[in-house]
Amino acid sequence: MTDHITTVAGVAVDTRHWIGGARVASEETFTDVSPIDGSVLGEIARGTATEATAAVAAATAAFPGWAATPRAERARLLHAIADGVEKRLEEFAIVETSDNGALLRSHRRGVMPRVAHNFRFFADRLLDLGHDDFETRGHTNHVSWDPAGPCVLITPWNAPLMLATWKIAPALAAGNTVILKPAEWTPLTASLLADVTAEAGLPAGVLNIVQGYGAEVGEALVTHADVRRISFTGSVPTARRIAVAAGDHLTPLSLELGGKSPLLVFADADLDLAVDLAVEQYDNAGQVCLAATRILVEETIAEEFTRRFTAKAAALTQGDPRDPATDIGPNIHPRQVEKIDGFVRRALNAGARAIIGGGPKTDLGGLYYRPTLLTDVAQDSEIVQEEVFGPVLTLQTFASEDEAVALANDTRFGLAATLATGDPERAERVSARLVAGTVWVNCFFVRDLRAPFGGARQSGVGREGGTWSFDFYCDLKNTVTAP
Ligand code: NAD
Repeated sequence: MTDHITTVAGVAVDTRHWIGGARVASEETFTDVSPIDGSVLGEIARGTATEATAAVAAATAAFPGWAATPRAERARLLHAIADGVEKRLEEFAIVETSDNGALLRSHRRGVMPRVAHNFRFFADRLLDLGHDDFETRGHTNHVSWDPAGPCVLITPWNAPLMLATWKIAPALAAGNTVILKPAEWTPLTASLLADVTAEAGLPAGVLNIVQGYGAEVGEALVTHADVRRISFTGSVPTARRIAVAAGDHLTPLSLELGGKSPLLVFADADLDLAVDLAVEQYDNAGQVCLAATRILVEETIAEEFTRRFTAKAAALTQGDPRDPATDIGPNIHPRQVEKIDGFVRRALNAGARAIIGGGPKTDLGGLYYRPTLLTDVAQDSEIVQEEVFGPVLTLQTFASEDEAVALANDTRFGLAATLATGDPERAERVSARLVAGTVWVNCFFVRDLRAPFGGARQSGVGREGGTWSFDFYCDLKNTVTAP
């Protein structure tokens, strides 16, 4: 580590904020630690209200120029950023894996290409926007998508750069300026992105990145009067605080929150497919908001399903996420592992039975939790109702379609649902009755950025994706002109 630069897996990462096109240090720092082995990755600038104010000022100053930049030029710059991410894809992948412990092969093959795609998709979508003019008694109605102003984007650690760019790309495409606050457990790839945007020629102040804790710099950003949009991905308790803070200035909010999604397996399903879908829920060590963590199986096939699931899960390899043979890496932080284990202990004490797992995998060190499947769980129990955010699934059975739907919908969340059935009519019937932002039928995690994305109930407020992102990040205006 030299002055403000840390080297992570051979990649130089600046540990300072990125404000107004310049690197800015803070008086204090916080330590960023790798979940793989507990090694220190860097001492990161710890932002306060001072840096939040400076970043909002920089975004406010840059806004008129960026908003007036022709769409084609904004789109060109977003594509240039995507080019930069692709050029440094390997660096982004290894730094993200070092920082959040998710599989290196996933970052290489799926996540970082998706980061680049986020920029390309919203750049292209921008150029398609707004052919909505119509006439009323000879008057024309012209709908325009006006940029709203500085946007504060706050993101979690489970898919740091993917989730950040899912917001940055449409916000910038729309002509807004941005202040991103990455999660304090995963600050690094956002800093690399700042370098890429500078190299691509994005004007100073259009994208600003402030590092630090939510309760410090995060709070200062969401309470700022000059912020025109807040988009937040994270937990429900934080969302409540942010919603209250945003209330002061009535700043429009988009909230993408937690889930407790069901996987419904009907007796007519392709059982091998259903088992594959169930085991897939351990991906990213269970740290996926969309994960179908409640497995609901028709009782006539429950025994056979459990047998095949157990065999398949036993073949999963847990270990270093940089190793191509690894299926499940570490969880993010000791605090998170304690939280996961607390949920499991309490469930076991309340009478649940662990079919597999049930505790940490101690031979790998403190942060690796064994893939766990709990049964004999009551519908109103904590383990069925609360998001664990670790590799912990529950198994319940149902006797009828009505019961399956009732169990599936009986939580305060509504992010996603997955169903496995061989009957297309049943798929249609059940999908229509599920409370969820996304329903997957005989598949999981297939995402098209044209689709709306978000959650029902406490899984979120609003939708992003495709045109919905522009709805959120723009002030839509209708201009009526007399003949
Ligand atoms: P979190 O709510 O603890 O933190 C998220 C972000 O909010 C972090 O950057 C944090 O610093 C910041 N923050 C915390 N307090 C703040 C405050 N008072 N003001 C402003 N910012 C503040 O969530 P987490 O543990 O980082 O992430 C896990 C959660 O995110 C899970 O609930 C998961 O389901 C959810 N998630 C949802 C989606 C989705 O798209 N719906 C995607 C990924 C993760």
